[in-house]
Amino acid sequence: MWGFRDLRPWYDRVAEGDPIGEVWLTGDDCEIATGPHAGKRLAALFESDSAALLGAEAPTPDSPLLIKVIFAKEKLSVQVHPDDKLARKYGEPRGKTECWYALAAEPGAQVAAGLKPGTTLAGIKEEIQAGTLEQSLNVLPVKTGDMVFVDAGTVHAIWPGSILLETQQNCDLTYRMFDYGRQRELHIDKSLEATKLTTRAGKVAPRELADRTVLIDVEYFRVERIGMNGVRTGESLHGVDEESGLAYLFAAAGAGRLTGAGFEPVDLPTRGIVAVPASSPAFVVEDAKAHDGKLELIRITPNWPSKAA
Ligand SMILES: [Zn+2]
Repeated sequence: MWGFRDLRPWYDRVAEGDPIGEVWLTGDDCEIATGPHAGKRLAALFESDSAALLGAEAPTPDSPLLIKVIFAKEKLSVQVHPDDKLARKYGEPRGKTECWYALAAEPGAQVAAGLKPGTTLAGIKEEIQAGTLEQSLNVLPVKTGDMVFVDAGTVHAIWPGSILLETQQNCDLTYRMFDYGRQRELHIDKSLEATKLTTRAGKVAPRELADRTVLIDVEYFRVERIGMNGVRTGESLHGVDEESGLAYLFAAAGAGRLTGAGFEPVDLPTRGIVAVPASSPAFVVEDAKAHDGKLELIRITPNWPSKAA
């Protein structure tokens, strides 16, 4: 209800009925578009071929990350996600820590992540009733290229003005605290149970390496912006101290093509995503024809909590 009817030029999609707020790139129900598994649901591929996808290090066989593009025309609800421990109490495999990378932002764009110092749970409860919860939120300005970390337990809200690439733990638990009077269900008790008054949420300073910019590297995921300079080998995309594992490649701008021996070339369309499994044969990635020099690659890999950076 808070999205857009027309996603152009981001995606060639115009909604007939309800607006579209989120484009899911790696949801359990996302359909694999190319290759020998074309037509399968992503979750089904994790069920049948988890080790080939994730490598030997993965602690659980299912899909670890949900990656989306978020189009907010109006404010999203003020919400909070549980951490792993609380999610398991409610029968889910994991909680939800997330991050937002601003693919674009209008001047004055803002998001809210975290609570102002001195906020109490009792105060939040009163403000939910009074409809004034926004005044306790820590508001952040957002520019194109910014990365915002939102760890589980952080009270947060996405507001209009930016288009965000969201990477999150693959979990569907959202507790809505305040929804601007819209008629959706609120989860006030559970949201208060999940809320942490102090968290690590906020903007993350980029770390420049010789051949890439590390946008974030935390306990569940690492997100990097990769400079292309022509052709890159799959091997060169791999971090120096990185175990072999699953990597997602997202084209933030331009379009790409992956080629290698033993598989049909794979197109990486603009704002599309390619899953590179742990068992991938050697490949190269380059600009697709007609998109010369424009490919801007975002590489997303899962981290496992035991190997926290
Ligand atoms: Zn969220």
